[in-house]
Amino acid sequence: MLALDQGTTSSRAILFTDEGRLSASAAFEFAQHYPRPGWVEHEPKDILDTTVRAIREAVQKAGISPAQIAAIGITNQRETTLVWDRLTGEPVYNAIVWQCRRTASIIQKLKDRGMAPMLHQKTGLVPDAYFSASKIRWLLDETNLQKRAENGELCFGTVDSYLAYHLVKGRPHVTDATNASRTMLMNLKTQDWDEELLRLFNIPRAMLPRIADTAETIGMLDEAFLGTEIPVTALAGDQHAALFGQACFEPGAVKNTYGTGCFMLMNTGDKPIQDDKGLLTTVAWRLNGKPTYALEGSVFIAGAAIQWLRDELGIIDSAGASEDLAAQVKDSGGVYFVPAFTGLGAPHWDMYARGTLTGLSRGTGRAHIARAALEAIAYQSNDLMRLMAKSLGHKPVSLKVDGGATANDLLMQLQADIAGISVLRPQVRETTALGVALLAGMGVGLFGTPEQAAKTWQLDRRFTPDSNVDLRQKRLGGWERAVKTALFEAQLRKEST
Ligand code: ADP
Repeated sequence: MLALDQGTTSSRAILFTDEGRLSASAAFEFAQHYPRPGWVEHEPKDILDTTVRAIREAVQKAGISPAQIAAIGITNQRETTLVWDRLTGEPVYNAIVWQCRRTASIIQKLKDRGMAPMLHQKTGLVPDAYFSASKIRWLLDETNLQKRAENGELCFGTVDSYLAYHLVKGRPHVTDATNASRTMLMNLKTQDWDEELLRLFNIPRAMLPRIADTAETIGMLDEAFLGTEIPVTALAGDQHAALFGQACFEPGAVKNTYGTGCFMLMNTGDKPIQDDKGLLTTVAWRLNGKPTYALEGSVFIAGAAIQWLRDELGIIDSAGASEDLAAQVKDSGGVYFVPAFTGLGAPHWDMYARGTLTGLSRGTGRAHIARAALEAIAYQSNDLMRLMAKSLGHKPVSLKVDGGATANDLLMQLQADIAGISVLRPQVRETTALGVALLAGMGVGLFGTPEQAAKTWQLDRRFTPDSNVDLRQKRLGGWERAVKTALFEAQLRKEST
């Protein structure tokens, strides 16, 4: 199975055996464009070229014949918006990347008109410039192409859709339900583009792709790429693929990805659960026409706090060194670090909050601060998980983890202790790619059910929580005080400006 993982900074191709073992991989980075402060673009050609190069190199490294590949799955950076000419396939503008803030004012106007509750109720999303709808609107205005879009001469797509159009024979114009659920144009209940939302953004239906299941035969990889045709049988947004790759198939099953920030998703079964504290409701995947839903939350600053220790404070040489330094002390010595560099997200939502260090004493040293930074990643993730558990009505039995910072054993143990839950780290850390490979395997009939695909999930290590409940309560109390301090300071600052 070949997984194409098209991310924000690189395009990767990873081959897995039918037992879910990683066979070979290749990755190519590409340029980020920042035409103005807060604007982020990718060149569509770069997205496609690096993907094709990665495919060829991975197959070559694996030393296999392309005919041995049973199926291909595509997983991608979500929400990033492309518009291209239906006839030529030529993009009419650069890809507007999910991070791009250029459409913040479009969203603000909708909020001012009181549209937020309707948008949230229909799409599960909190109105924000991240999602594709406002980006499409901006792009059609900027290029003056509304008429051509209405005539069906243009295609909109997220990256999965763009790649499928260019890689698959017959140029299908298609996306999957997970990617569609991030556009802010899909109705979660009907699983279709929503007329009221299309009118609100004045986006013609004629430019929108068909919404396929997450595992479904999209078509055949054009033989121009590997000299043979191969079925493309899955499309999935990256976080959704990771949830699948972590075998989170039961309601309440949850995964957290520890990178620059954290992304937590919890399976909530066949019903979309709406939360009013800023969690998003999203399609986990859709199989045989049947959607499974998830709640999603993110921590803005996680691994980035460790980068800050390295790059600004200079108290460690590498992110990995945070573990040894923090292990020099048995606890943080009463120090709490709230890394609210860019404000606080769910459940507090205060964009004025800033980073806060509390509990410093004459004896506080580098090791205490490093430990407090690792703990902060775990506290913030725990706050999200508690919010999700409340919405769902019960606590998850365990937390599955992936991402770069999960290499840190101390962080994983702190997470188990702070959340009072077992933390399970899988052998394959490439869970996003594995997830879409398994979905592709399902699409081609290698696995009949998610449970069969799940047999490929192998535990690397289980981190069991400390049984000392009093200690946990004490720690959580300290964290809450520190967060309140950050919020109080934000309030005072707001009042004084
Ligand atoms: P992303 O996909 O967001 O770029 P990665 O999954 O590559 O992130 O993880 C990189 C992040 O994880 C960085 O912010 C880095 O500081 C942090 N990180 C990496 N290794 C460790 C470690 N051993 N301990 C703590 N943090 C780490």
